Amino acid sequence: MEILQRPDEMQQWVRGQRRSGACIGLVPTMGFFHDGHLSLMRLAAQHADTVVVSLFVNPTQFAPNEDLDRYPRDFERDMLMLRREQVAAVFAPTPELMYPPGFQTEVRVQHLTKYLCGRTRPHHFAGVTTVVTKLFNIVQPDVAVFGEKDYQQLAIIRRFVTDLNLPIRIIGGPIVREDDGLAMSSRNANLDRSHRASALSLSTGIGLARDLYRQGERKAMTIATAVQRHILSFPHTSIDYVSLIDSRNLDPVEQVDVHTMLALAVHIDGKVRLIDNGLLVPIKKEE
Ligand code: AMP
Repeated sequence: MEILQRPDEMQQWVRGQRRSGACIGLVPTMGFFHDGHLSLMRLAAQHADTVVVSLFVNPTQFAPNEDLDRYPRDFERDMLMLRREQVAAVFAPTPELMYPPGFQTEVRVQHLTKYLCGRTRPHHFAGVTTVVTKLFNIVQPDVAVFGEKDYQQLAIIRRFVTDLNLPIRIIGGPIVREDDGLAMSSRNANLDRSHRASALSLSTGIGLARDLYRQGERKAMTIATAVQRHILSFPHTSIDYVSLIDSRNLDPVEQVDVHTMLALAVHIDGKVRLIDNGLLVPIKKEE
């Protein structure tokens, strides 16, 4: 497995792969791998001959008051995990290599970035779309795989790839959960035992919404209020948003149906911000 740090080295390596006719798959990550990340790498291997993983904790998608410094990192552990996967190369640049002096360009999606996570993190998605554009230009993948855990991010990436005519197929991978339902996240490492118990309020909140739907409730407001109460009944929780949206376009809904998704963002102890989502009528795999 190649480990490459410099964008020009990465571009050169990938040119060699392309010359031999390989279809390239990219999985962008911020590292501190868990089974959710590994599932995306395996999905990429089903759609590409050569899988490249990027590992970069992108500073421009964190606001000054957010957890950039506390974001979990362990490069050696990550490399050990990757070596067991079908990963041909890792691109792990430094912030200085990605944003050399004089850098001043931004890629921004207008509408989709204003709601949900974009409301309290107004600069976040411009940081994401800019760094993903750079990663696409450096790795030049044929396919790129992103997790449905970050559902809004996936929708935004699909949007700019379409809008900018990028010749890249975007594939979404389902959410991988712990046995008790907690969605896997690198940030879970920053939860102590009692905080972890409170973190379960997100997945059990999705379960509650599904129960209400099964019992015939169709008013989004009623379901959202019940989920909010449920989350706030756990200690240390504060809500960023509890939203019922149309999974096809992310628009808020008043009446729920089979396309409705519950999207959640919750702070645990004011320090760890967790997100989760689920369709009210789950597809079989995720149930
Ligand atoms: P991150 O390293 O957290 O930026 O995530 C890298 C990629 O992994 C993103 O496309 C995420 O959506 C995806 N991802 C994170 N957690 C999960 C999970 N529990 N299941 C599936 N994909 C995930």
